Amino acid sequence: MRHIYTAFLLLVLTRGIYAQPGDSLMLDRLFRSCMTDTLAYHDLRLLCKDVGPRLSGSAGAEKAVAFAREMLLRCGADTVYLQPCRVPRWIRGEKEIAWMKTPQGAPQPLRVCALGNAVGTGPQGLTAPVVEIRRWEELSALRTGSLKGRIVFFNLPMDPAHYHTFMAYGESGIARRSGPAEAARLGALGVVVRSLASNTDDHPHTGVTQYLDSVPAIPAVALSTRDADRLSQTLALEPGLQLYFRTTCAMLGEVESYNVVGDLRGSAHPERIITVGGHLDSWDLGEGAHDDGAGCVQSAHVLALFRRLSLRPQHTLRAVMFMNEENGGRGGATYAEVAKRKGEEHLFALESDAGAFSPRGFTFEARAEQRYRLQRWASLFRPYGLYDFEGQGSGADIHLLKERGAVLSGLCPDSQRYFDVHHAETDVFEAVSPRELNLGTFAMAALLYLVDTHGL
Ligand SMILES: [Zn+2]
Repeated sequence: MRHIYTAFLLLVLTRGIYAQPGDSLMLDRLFRSCMTDTLAYHDLRLLCKDVGPRLSGSAGAEKAVAFAREMLLRCGADTVYLQPCRVPRWIRGEKEIAWMKTPQGAPQPLRVCALGNAVGTGPQGLTAPVVEIRRWEELSALRTGSLKGRIVFFNLPMDPAHYHTFMAYGESGIARRSGPAEAARLGALGVVVRSLASNTDDHPHTGVTQYLDSVPAIPAVALSTRDADRLSQTLALEPGLQLYFRTTCAMLGEVESYNVVGDLRGSAHPERIITVGGHLDSWDLGEGAHDDGAGCVQSAHVLALFRRLSLRPQHTLRAVMFMNEENGGRGGATYAEVAKRKGEEHLFALESDAGAFSPRGFTFEARAEQRYRLQRWASLFRPYGLYDFEGQGSGADIHLLKERGAVLSGLCPDSQRYFDVHHAETDVFEAVSPRELNLGTFAMAALLYLVDTHGL
């Protein structure tokens, strides 16, 4: 009898935390409904083809805000509103030009694009001899002034030995993020960075760079991976070669833009908020399909899925399309500021900003006991190809919600092909599979259903 009582007590205590038999049935319902849906893919098509590229402060971004508002209303949000935020307005200017020239040879064109937030060379362009840097550590051996009058070529390939390509991106990415500032400190005139791409092709990949107030801002471009290999090989034979590039990009101050927010009001605890989001802005070269049109569409369609199955969340389920993740992070910062000012209670936040490939799991930022509870749900996801619940981290737009006490999470799709298209002109609608897009939406909805139902 006592054993039975203990077992009963345990059951009562663990109810509400651990998975119930009903959970796997509910996940099956979510899965079936999500996988037969065609509207999310259609919305991604509209965002990519009708709205198109949408860098912060551009006409495209303005169109995207209007589109996201409409999408959230169609997805059944009870209230949809725009949250104002100031964003930088950077423009690429004219198509970039670059070539290399050996002392005897004719100029050979190189495929480049300006790095985001970079200054331009001006209409004359910039010509100089080149110094190649193959490892970031090489910089520390150089003295001030040793790169004077040079263009620095950072040739740091993404390390293929990392299974998780985000690891390789983080490591080699230092050259794009900090290379121009560090090269300027050593006297360089300009910077060429090997594109952060996991494949070899002809498309340069852009991305933001960060200058320092203490050193001059110098022009900086990304070079396609194939041309980076070509430049490196040519330099080995002809160290005296000259490089030329011309960019007319410029930072034009700040303008007003918006996060777009849609709430599905909670039935029991409307004041407690669960956020799900992606970022609405995208780089100007492609259509921002994987990065991060998919995350926006998935977040909105999590709400639609709850509606279709008549699931009224207990807590307020809020989809947020954040502005300016790519070159400023102002949307995420504003969202956290407003949450603080209003004294909002944030329970959980999930971001999808790693591509629309088949989901493999979730990363978390949580206390040990919360992480343990989340990992107890992993077995419910295994039939759908998700198994990785060990990773740390969440998303750039939600990480400040940690201060509000929220548990944070990031959707973790298969990362093998993401950096083939990331920030390049190849990140287009056609690169997204409708099934993989829906698999992501399902996984997000399922996790949020479990958090909403059982708490943390
Ligand atoms: Zn992104």
